[in-house]
Amino acid sequence: MATKTHWKKLNNPDYLGAYALDPGEDMILTIKSAGKETFVGTAGKKEEGLLVHFKENVKPMICNATNAKTITKVAGSPYIEDWPGTRISVYSQEVSAFGDTVDALRIRPYAPKEELYCDDCGSEIKAANGKSPRQIAASTKAKYEKQLCGDCAVKRFEGSKSEESSAGKEEVENG
Ligand SMILES: [Zn+2]
Repeated sequence: MATKTHWKKLNNPDYLGAYALDPGEDMILTIKSAGKETFVGTAGKKEEGLLVHFKENVKPMICNATNAKTITKVAGSPYIEDWPGTRISVYSQEVSAFGDTVDALRIRPYAPKEELYCDDCGSEIKAANGKSPRQIAASTKAKYEKQLCGDCAVKRFEGSKSEESSAGKEEVENG
């Protein structure tokens, strides 16, 4: 299927659309900003609506009510000010519109799976203690300046404890 060229792919619209995706493909994107903007709609008329910009090198997406509701679910907030940094999984779905079937951009109602790897041992950072891999990576980075898996974070923690106690010992010995 990928060897054929859909006519929509030959279009070069200013906004992200189903044309940018192959059937069955998901595009993982990170929201950079979202806000009300004026854009040129499909009929060539100027329209006002919600535009979502991404950190990745893709065009901004015109966000309809359906997709805004899904982003609300994934971001955990209906406020567009809370959306930056949210990762979404975009896919193309056939929808019927005006008696015709068209491909439309849709967003998965859950955060895309993220693979983060430990800077120490290279294994995948897994969710633990109710924290997502991203949260664990962020907290270990803040503490140890490296994103670490649970095992390596424990090792570091115990290492820092024994360092502290041996440092304490030295002081005692010196004193
Ligand atoms: Zn590790």
